[in-house]
Amino acid sequence: MKTIDKIYINGEFVTPKGTEYFDLISPTTNEKLGQVLLGNKEDTIDAIEAAKTAFKTFSLTTKAERIQYLQNLQASIKKRKQEFIDVMIEEYGGTFQFATVSFDYILKSFDSAINLLGTYSFNKTMGQSEVQMAPIGVVGIIIPWNSSNGFICGKLATAIAAGCTTVIKPSEMSAQQTQLILECFHEAGLPKGVFNIVNGLGEIVGAEISRNPDISKISFTGSTVVGKMIAKEAVDNLKRVTLELGGKSPNIILDDADLSKAIPMAVAAAFMNSGQACVAGTRLLVQENKLDEVKTLISNIASKTIVGDPKNENTAVGPMVSNKQFERVQNYIQIGINEGAEILVGGLGKPTGLENGNFVKPTVFVNVNNQMRIAREEIFGPVLSIITYKTEEEAIEIANDTTYGLQAYVSSADEERAYRVASQINAGRVQVNTIGHDPMAPFGGFKQSGIGREFGTIGLEAYLEPRALIR
Ligand code: NAP
Ligand code: MG
Repeated sequence: MKTIDKIYINGEFVTPKGTEYFDLISPTTNEKLGQVLLGNKEDTIDAIEAAKTAFKTFSLTTKAERIQYLQNLQASIKKRKQEFIDVMIEEYGGTFQFATVSFDYILKSFDSAINLLGTYSFNKTMGQSEVQMAPIGVVGIIIPWNSSNGFICGKLATAIAAGCTTVIKPSEMSAQQTQLILECFHEAGLPKGVFNIVNGLGEIVGAEISRNPDISKISFTGSTVVGKMIAKEAVDNLKRVTLELGGKSPNIILDDADLSKAIPMAVAAAFMNSGQACVAGTRLLVQENKLDEVKTLISNIASKTIVGDPKNENTAVGPMVSNKQFERVQNYIQIGINEGAEILVGGLGKPTGLENGNFVKPTVFVNVNNQMRIAREEIFGPVLSIITYKTEEEAIEIANDTTYGLQAYVSSADEERAYRVASQINAGRVQVNTIGHDPMAPFGGFKQSGIGREFGTIGLEAYLEPRALIR
């Protein structure tokens, strides 16, 4: 049983003023792993104060200094690879496969920020004027549990590159993962107050960050509902917001696609991170003449998908993060059944032998139309809906008939055709015959998948304000 009773403010581990404890429960066994002492509003204000003071000098640091800090952070994380993987498996229930990929992703986020600093010019000439790209101020970083340290590093690395200081609020369910990364960050020896981390509840710590006038910008990843609440609070002092919200990503399999490649990729896109991924490809759009073939292939692959102990190297789908998330996914499977969709694979209940954890059966629905709730709402579990179309135009129309627009996938034997279709999809990223990540390309959503972009030059500029000096 571990007790985490420290938060990090102004370069030190401190005991929060908050007095409430939150239980850390294993997603795999539902046994109590430990507890975390939560920070409160005062702790959040202390953290913001520290970041505000640190900004005065940190905003003046040179590129070379920032690169050195980013290298130090990366080096101290690198040394503890196994612990990062183990704690993500234990606390979050992330699979060994996902936790390993996540660790590489963490390291690469520092490389990307260093690369950006190598090429980006903070001084530009526009018209007759010099334009200085100035760090925006103290940034509030609010993140969910589905890739906690990945989100912290992606956002913090960009903030540091920009010369901003930060107050970070992770999910309280990620307290052990946060503790580990804090130990690494502390070792990296950055100036006091550049990063401050407060464990605590969204409605207390998150709400104070959203409201506090000394926060200049919020970078948020999470649900659309909370993203809207944050944006409403932020408007009072016109904080800038970058919101990475939900998705209901379409995966268009064009009629000429090689199904032996496209369908395994579609299953991977749907069930990645045990389905708890904002970019998951959860609507599979299939030409109606191909449906029978696709059903056979999907049944084969999905029924062989290994669900189980996330420690096992072969496990593809682990438990849902919490019992609440398990119930949410069950509820959606029931909604699908009630709406008249047909279960091809999976269904309600826990897989045999996995009754103790928050395990769900990876589920594939057919006979889904795009107006059903299972096709419109983000489920955040391994549940895939297959929807048929007649023509390419109809496929594009269905793909775009959503309130979301984070990511999409297109498969075709003809790359030019795939590009033509991809160029008509209203989504921040379209994966053409692949599932990949480009850390220098923008990431973010059209429509209610968010506001703004992360990564690359566009992501960096979201932490900067242009100041034009007219001569
Ligand atoms: P969430 O409620 O959006 O939480 C994300 C973060 O925002 C957490 O740190 C949360 O704190 C905080 N928060 C909550 N209320 C807040 C408020 N009023 N002001 C400021 N911050 C606040 O997401 P969740 O509850 O973890 O998951 C619920 C659903 O959101 C999921 O089922 C899924 O559909 C979606 N989701 C999407 C993503 C994504 O990457 N797009 C990620 C996770 C979840 P607490 O943890 O203390 O509530
Ligand atoms: Mg919540």
